[in-house]
Amino acid sequence: MADLMKGKKGLILGVANKRSIAWAIARSVSSQGAELAFTYQGERLAENVKELADTLPNSQVMPCDVTDEAQVDAVMRELDSKWGGVDFLVHCVAFANAEDLEGGYLKTKKEGFATALNVSAYSLTLVSQKVAPLMEKNGGGSILTLTYLGGQRVMVNYNVMGVAKAALEASVKYLANDLGPKNIRVNAISAGPVNTLAARGITGFADIIKMVREKSPLRRNIEPEEVGDAGLFLVSQLSRGITGEILFVDCGYNIIAF
Ligand code: NAP
Repeated sequence: MADLMKGKKGLILGVANKRSIAWAIARSVSSQGAELAFTYQGERLAENVKELADTLPNSQVMPCDVTDEAQVDAVMRELDSKWGGVDFLVHCVAFANAEDLEGGYLKTKKEGFATALNVSAYSLTLVSQKVAPLMEKNGGGSILTLTYLGGQRVMVNYNVMGVAKAALEASVKYLANDLGPKNIRVNAISAGPVNTLAARGITGFADIIKMVREKSPLRRNIEPEEVGDAGLFLVSQLSRGITGEILFVDCGYNIIAF
C-alpha cells in the first residue's frame, strides 16, 4: 500500500518546523505518493519550510498569511495554473496572543478574541471557500483541520483558543453540509498534546503532557506520526464515507472522566 495517494495533489497550511503536526501529515501523505504545496506565514519561516519541502519529491512552497484574503487568492491562482485542480487541503493553523493563554478566560479582551477566532477558526471557512472550485475541477476533495479537546471541555489556560476550537468544530460541520453535494468532505482530527511551537505557548503545557500520559487508556502520549497517519486516512479514499467528523487521535484520553 504505497500508492494510496498517487496522482493526488494537496495543499498543506501550517508547517513551521519539523515538529509541526502539519509536517507529520505531509510525510504520511507524501509516503503514499501525494504531490504537495506548502505555505508559510512571513519570511521568518520561509527557509525552514523550503528546506523541509525540499526533502519531499515534487513539492512547492508559497507564502500565505491566512488573515490576508489576497494572499489566499494568490495561492489558489498559482495552484490552478500549476495543477489545474486540488484533491485535498490540510489546515493546521492556529494563533492566540500569549496573554490570553494563561490565567482565566474571563479577562479576554475583544481584540484578543477576534485575533484567535480569525486566525484559528474563520481561516478554515475562508480557505474552504477558495479551494472548493479547485476541488470541484477534480470531481471532489477532502479538507482536514486540527482541533483539540479544549474546544469541547475546559482545559486550564487554553481559554480563548478553546472558544476558537469550538467555532472551528462547528465550522467543520456546516462546511461539510455545504460542500457535501460537491463531493467535498470536511473533517477534523482532535489530537492529543504534541510538543510543538504553538503548544509551547500554552502555560503549563508540560503538566498537560504528563497528565495525559498518566490517565489516557493507552498510558502514553501520541506520536506525531499517529496524527500523520490518521490525516492520511481522512484525506484519502479510505474515508470516502466520512464527513463532518471530529476524530480523536489522543490515546483515548477524551473518554476519561477521572
Ligand atoms: P505549529 O507547528 O506551531 O503550527 C502552527 C502553525 O500555524 C504555524 O506554522 C504558524 O505559523 C501557523 N500560523 C499562525 N498564524 C498564522 C497565519 N495568520 N497565517 C498562516 N499561518 C499561521 O503547531 P502545531 O501544534 O503543529 O499546530 C497545528 C494545529 O494543530 C493547530 O491548529 C493546533 O491548534 C492544532 N493542535 C495542536 C495540538 C498540540 O498539542 N500541538 C493538539 C491539538 C491540536 P507561525 O509560526 O509563523 O505563526
